[in-house]
Amino acid sequence: MGDERFIGSFTQQEPIPEAGIDSATEVLRHGRLHRYNLAGDEAGEVALLEEEFAAYTGARYCLAVASGGYAMACALRALGVAPGAPVLSNGFTLAPVPGAIAAVGARPVFVETTEQLTIDLDHLAAQAGAHPQARVLLLSHMRGHVADMEALMEVARAHDLTVVEDCAHTMGARWRGVPSGRHGAIGCYSTQTYKHMNSGEGGLIVTDDATLAARMILLSGSYMLYARHRAAPPPEAFEGLTAGIPNVSGRMDNLRAAILRPQLADLDARCAAWTERYRAVERGLAGTPGLRLVERPAAERFVGSSFQFLLPGWGAERIEALLGACAARGVELKWFGAEAPHGFTSRYAHWAYADPQPLPQTDRILAGLIDFRLPLTFSLADCAQIARILRQEVTRHAPGLAAE
Ligand SMILES: *Cc1c(COP(=O)(O)O)cnc(C)c1O
Repeated sequence: MGDERFIGSFTQQEPIPEAGIDSATEVLRHGRLHRYNLAGDEAGEVALLEEEFAAYTGARYCLAVASGGYAMACALRALGVAPGAPVLSNGFTLAPVPGAIAAVGARPVFVETTEQLTIDLDHLAAQAGAHPQARVLLLSHMRGHVADMEALMEVARAHDLTVVEDCAHTMGARWRGVPSGRHGAIGCYSTQTYKHMNSGEGGLIVTDDATLAARMILLSGSYMLYARHRAAPPPEAFEGLTAGIPNVSGRMDNLRAAILRPQLADLDARCAAWTERYRAVERGLAGTPGLRLVERPAAERFVGSSFQFLLPGWGAERIEALLGACAARGVELKWFGAEAPHGFTSRYAHWAYADPQPLPQTDRILAGLIDFRLPLTFSLADCAQIARILRQEVTRHAPGLAAE
């Protein structure tokens, strides 16, 4: 009997719920796609989505925008991050994060990663000390791994850093019961196809700060129509701001919001389904020689929409052989240690617009870091099969075993 092969697609998300298709069709039929194109006393899908997402996260204010990348750049602009200013951020993240810093002309200053794949708080304190002009930490909860947020906020307070959270991979996650995106001053989310809600492209921003909310609404291109928002501060918060803030258009439209509202209603159930799949893979991989699982702290309610494991000390050739063997059996893995950026995977040394910065600890971890998505189109049996294939191939290729 030959080796079993997985036939599912790692990039196939679920269809849009019927209720979303129905309300999207309604928007298409009436044609009022622009968020401020409203008839009579209609609230509009975007304003309703903002109100519902604010309620979901417990935030006072919410703004829906064109992408997660736009959300982060908008947050940095609203905080007055100046061209040339250093902005602290994770060395282990994806390109839209340093890209948002570059979008405002600022300079990313990267912070090391721990084996839990979270930002290294000792190095954060060291970098904050070494770059006293840095006022902002753009914190990426990369691949859904949440740092110890009480300890992180302690470091931020000690260095007078404002925290902006990139929650592209933690929409629906919590740390000690607090929704991801609610520890920092501003939380940014993405509704791009590969995230936890899918409108193709899109982003959401939450904050409790009325002035920041007003600035971000004006930045997104609200003209003088901000009174049509529902999850916005009162008109007084906009006084004196309207002339000084440039319009950097990046609004969400009613079509995308119509698709997202039914998904938000299902978000917690979907997050639970992801985590069930994550746990199935984790169980199947436990105790595999040569493979290290990432420990998940009890305080973290994570969303298991992707899976990572470490192959410490394996070496590039052995990892490439493993990747090839798994791909031949239908399990497409991503490797953060690759020399050149592949698909969505890249690492800090590839972002040539950022100053070169040695991060030896991150290099060591990424050299053995393997990653794959767990779309909800996978069943629990699919997840168990993926784990079986991985377990066999890792065992075959592990240093000191059969492959040597
Ligand atoms: C996807 C992603 C974003 C936001 O991306 P957009 O495509 O601009 O919505 C931000 N951070 C991380 C880590 C991401 O993976």
